[in-house]
Amino acid sequence: MKKDLNVFNNVLELIGETPLIKLNNITSEFKGNYYAKVEAFNPGHSSKDRIALHIIEEAEKKGILKPGDTIIETTSGNTGFSIAMVSIIKGYDCILAVSSKSSGDKIDMLKSMGAKVYVCPAHVSADDPRSYYQVAKRLHEEIKGSVYINQYFNELNIDAHYDTTGPEIWNQTEGKITHLVACSGTGGTISGTAKFLKEKNPNIKIMGVDAYGSVLKKYHETKEFDEKEIYPYRIEGLGKNLIPTATDFEIIDEFVKVTDEESAHSAREIAMTEGLFVGYTSGAAIQAIKQLDSENRFDENDLIVVIFPDHGSRYMSKVYSDKWMSEQGFFDAKNEETTSLIQYIK
Ligand code: PMP
Repeated sequence: MKKDLNVFNNVLELIGETPLIKLNNITSEFKGNYYAKVEAFNPGHSSKDRIALHIIEEAEKKGILKPGDTIIETTSGNTGFSIAMVSIIKGYDCILAVSSKSSGDKIDMLKSMGAKVYVCPAHVSADDPRSYYQVAKRLHEEIKGSVYINQYFNELNIDAHYDTTGPEIWNQTEGKITHLVACSGTGGTISGTAKFLKEKNPNIKIMGVDAYGSVLKKYHETKEFDEKEIYPYRIEGLGKNLIPTATDFEIIDEFVKVTDEESAHSAREIAMTEGLFVGYTSGAAIQAIKQLDSENRFDENDLIVVIFPDHGSRYMSKVYSDKWMSEQGFFDAKNEETTSLIQYIK
């Protein structure tokens, strides 16, 4: 089959080569030129398609995975969906240990893609036997012929973005990118993309986005893992309560922390101003840009690429639900304008 005729042998051939889309409104008051790498254009609607395909194909090459084997992973949802999709095409069983913080939509989607899902409590430490890390590890030990993807501690996660996301952004900006703004969860996206970009031009600034309630920013600045930084927050897929080895802290210039509330409003604002229906962490990334711009960190000629990791449809019962937003106390006087605009549109 010929890809140039837009005909494909299976859905996996559509992974990667996502578009870079100019932001025309949400950043119009800021210094610099802004482009979003919109990962929702992957067939599984997130950047995680890239790592699922890469890690599984590497395991096949090494002879670790054979048809009929089981793939196990811990996931906030997106990686699970991508692994489930790849498993269907390649003939593997897929078991996913998911945090109870994940939206009901995400969990239902995983089941719809044939995955067996274990929902584990979100607010326990990583070494608690009930945590999704420990549940996945135990299942891996129990199930013969199983492979544990382990995205937080698997350096192939970095390689997937080094091989694809980095070169794509470099080519799409014709080498003119000056800043990369990307959320950090496992850190695979930011680390792999940054590695490629800095090899091309070491002056490119790499800005990571972290959540209040996560340890990443403090660890980056002090090398100290500070448990006092950890508390529950709502954004899924951003920040961490442990230090992932899939994050190359050396390559990241700085981290910016964002709140649940401002990130949620920023996500809704992207949809309403750019017509891009993207996920919660895309809102977090734009929120980080707002904060950086307010500190006058960009110049007129800068070319800033921001990664939008996934699609808004995964957050219908969260960020895109007025009910959920009010339950969180996110509709207050400060955000009245956004609220009233939404009511007007309805
Ligand atoms: N956004 C979302 C919605 C995610 O699921 C993830 C992955 N946990 C990220 C951002 C962060 O990507 P990475 O794991 O590559 O740092």
